[in-house]
Amino acid sequence: MNRFPFFLFDSAENKKVEFLPENPDRVKIYSCGPTVYNYSHIGNLRSYIFVDVLRRSLKILGYSMDQTMNITDIDDKIIRESISRSVTIEEFTKPWTEAFFQDLQKLNIEKLEHYPIATESVDEMVGLVEKLNANGYTYEKEGNVYFSIDKLSSYGSLSKIDTSGIISGARYDADEYEKDNVRDFVLWKAPKEDGEKSWKTKIGLGRPGWHLECSAMIRQIYSSGVDIHTGGVDLLFPHHENEKAQSEAAYPNEKFVKYWMHCEHLLVDGQKMSKSKGNFFVLGDILEKGYDWKQIRYVLLSFHYRTKLNFSFERLNEAKLSIQKIQNSFNRISDKLNAQDIAFLNFPSSSDEIIDLRPNGFAKEYFLIFINAISDDLNIPKAIASIFDTIKLFNSSLDRSSLHKEDLLDCLKYFYQINLLLGLLEFKSTSEGSIGISENEIQFLIDERIKAKKNKDFQRADSIRDELKAKGIQLEDSKDGSVKWKRME
Ligand code: AMP
Ligand code: ZN
Repeated sequence: MNRFPFFLFDSAENKKVEFLPENPDRVKIYSCGPTVYNYSHIGNLRSYIFVDVLRRSLKILGYSMDQTMNITDIDDKIIRESISRSVTIEEFTKPWTEAFFQDLQKLNIEKLEHYPIATESVDEMVGLVEKLNANGYTYEKEGNVYFSIDKLSSYGSLSKIDTSGIISGARYDADEYEKDNVRDFVLWKAPKEDGEKSWKTKIGLGRPGWHLECSAMIRQIYSSGVDIHTGGVDLLFPHHENEKAQSEAAYPNEKFVKYWMHCEHLLVDGQKMSKSKGNFFVLGDILEKGYDWKQIRYVLLSFHYRTKLNFSFERLNEAKLSIQKIQNSFNRISDKLNAQDIAFLNFPSSSDEIIDLRPNGFAKEYFLIFINAISDDLNIPKAIASIFDTIKLFNSSLDRSSLHKEDLLDCLKYFYQINLLLGLLEFKSTSEGSIGISENEIQFLIDERIKAKKNKDFQRADSIRDELKAKGIQLEDSKDGSVKWKRME
């Protein structure tokens, strides 16, 4: 058996349960992504790092992933801002969407399989409203279509809100509201007269409510439900409760989400970091102060996702030392081997290759301790503590010169595996300097080049090809528009 079991804390069940996906060779995960009207703050980035940790951990455990994060580009704030600047939604959101992807790349967050955009999914949303109309869950008031929550007996079961005081027919048009205001929520909004963008659709002119977007995008990508749905704890109510209600009411015979996972907040001085409070840092602010991306990635990933993380610059300083310790231990071991011996560390990390590169000798027992920690609801603090115990042991074995070549190679496999999670180590070859660029960075650049070509920016496309060539990566364009790459000998 090549796959390790995984246990996760399911917010719906309110307890730890064993993860049993429909198909372990295609684990379907949907994560609520950014509303693209500004830079992401590092609280938002914590929730994206959580998605990255979940993805990377499941890959190490032997699962294959099919993941989605949506881009919300239809939202009250976006519409307001684009009207006040006299630009289209697309013109307003494009730079913020690009900034979001750049942040992911800077933090070495792996690219997911799908990033659907709300404005490109309106047909799906309309289809969902039609389905809800047909199933008798909606009503219309002044051109808006609302979801009638008292028609669905399971409403409230995810967030455990008290539904006893529901006032039938009390409504909310806003996308966000508090727990003590359980109301019917808007699915489809009638056009306003202030120039607000509307879509001409089968159910009339108008625009979707925010909650509808995610339900529709899940349907669009997967044609049914998902194994895991994630988001920050602030999304549990009303957003996820409403998503669940819409999807289950529209498709009562299907499972919408098997497991729900929620990431706790990042705080500053004990308060949730948020744009509305004005107490936020964006990635650029911290990089400008001279900290590097690795320190930020380390801090964001090293706390358990279900605990609040109080952000401080002190923590970034500590992170630098921690990363250095792990890197030094790796360097000591790789220095005893030649470039040929360690070239395997640079393999692209497909699931089979990840499994082939599991330690199976000297380092196996330490690898299994690491695996136990991540399989237990992503206990990264415990996994990191085990890494420090292990490198202490590696270092003392090196001091005694008691490691043979086979043992050293097994230790390198250990570093390969832990770095699949950490994404922080540099695997240097002894004779050639850095082996180079990660698979993740290559994929980002290839996507950038495809985008540049689409926009007829051939100069940019060529310069990306040259940049990759300089790093030893050769591209092969195929007729269907896809791009293959290989490392040059
Ligand atoms: P938004 O762009 O506001 O829709 O948020 C994107 C993601 O960031 C959502 O999953 C939020 O739950 C999450 N989020 C927002 N603020 C924080 C915070 N301070 N700490 C952690 N996650 C957050
Ligand atoms: Zn969502």
